[in-house]
Amino acid sequence: MALVNNAKPAWQMPNMVTNVKSVEAFPVSYQEPTDHNRFRSVCLVKITDEDGRVGWGECCTYFPEATLAAAKLVEGLAEIVVGQNILHTQTIWRKLHEHSWWYGTGAGLTSIAISGIDIALWDLKGKALNVSVLELLGGPAHEKMPAIASLHGTKETIEEMAEEIAAHTATGLHGAKVGFGKLGKANLGFEHDRDVEFVRKVSEAMGPDKMLMVDLGVKNSWDISTAITRARAFEELGVYWLEEPLGHDDPQGYAALRATSGIRIAYGEREWNAAGVKRIADTGTVDVIGLDPGRVGGISGFVKAAEICNLARRQANAHNFSTAIVGAASQALSWSNPACKLLELQPVYGPAQADLVDKPIWHENGYVPMPTGPGLGIEINEDLVASALMDN
Ligand SMILES: [Mg+2]
Repeated sequence: MALVNNAKPAWQMPNMVTNVKSVEAFPVSYQEPTDHNRFRSVCLVKITDEDGRVGWGECCTYFPEATLAAAKLVEGLAEIVVGQNILHTQTIWRKLHEHSWWYGTGAGLTSIAISGIDIALWDLKGKALNVSVLELLGGPAHEKMPAIASLHGTKETIEEMAEEIAAHTATGLHGAKVGFGKLGKANLGFEHDRDVEFVRKVSEAMGPDKMLMVDLGVKNSWDISTAITRARAFEELGVYWLEEPLGHDDPQGYAALRATSGIRIAYGEREWNAAGVKRIADTGTVDVIGLDPGRVGGISGFVKAAEICNLARRQANAHNFSTAIVGAASQALSWSNPACKLLELQPVYGPAQADLVDKPIWHENGYVPMPTGPGLGIEINEDLVASALMDN
């Protein structure tokens, strides 16, 4: 008896590919417990196709004035996106850059606005084709994706902070990246002896085989001499990488630091595009290049920038510090790119990570699972979005 397959092949399935019907911007504000309960804001982007399918993206703006400005940019750019084939993410990305030549040139708030649109389009494309963004990107580059905790120093005493950080890594997380120079009483990044004691006690509390990354805040503002002295001390204590010790744009300072310390140097999350990433990679002073999908041109922009990291043999690291939408994009991108070696997660409960989506990005025994689709693999809690809308 002949076997008969009655299922229609994919190419005969109707209405799989449609055009964009609408692009909407949602400027939202939320409290971020990891950042001392500060109110942060981002502009979410919802793109709907002619069949009613929906994709979501995020512009990582953080500040209210930037969020409202990004919303206006997204609304203005919408006319370029509406009517386009939903599969044509690259075409649309290029058209958006061509249109914004005068006020963006692939940088600034324009790059952030394009990021939100691009992430939403990739989500929508995956949902339309019923495949994950990871599959759209060509599949996994890794067998496993280790996760680390992304934290800020919060407590007054080093003992309390060591205990708190070690409690997070005890869940299986492979280490912790700790932000210095933040709000609260932690007072990190200002005194040599306190910083060294912090690193020593946190490392001891976490135990062997855990990574500790130190991330300097904008309030710290080290000079080159301070950066070299701290880097040498931290290197001795096994700090895995030192992030933004001299900010984002100090090639001479970083060259001096590189010449005097073997510590891994991380920066790059403030770059807007692949050209900026190439510029810092070419200095030979950066080992770990931060890339924010909600800033560097979305999933399309991240892929281009991460390829620069690959070619330069530098580690890329998704700057995953806003909502679960950028979290899901970071998960897919990190899994797909060989330059990405781990993924930062926020273990402290926050609504933007835990409540915004049906499946928050999380780890199992310290490893982030391979994402499954369709699209970004998440559904958005639209009631929460509506409740968090900013006055526009
Ligand atoms: Mg950072």
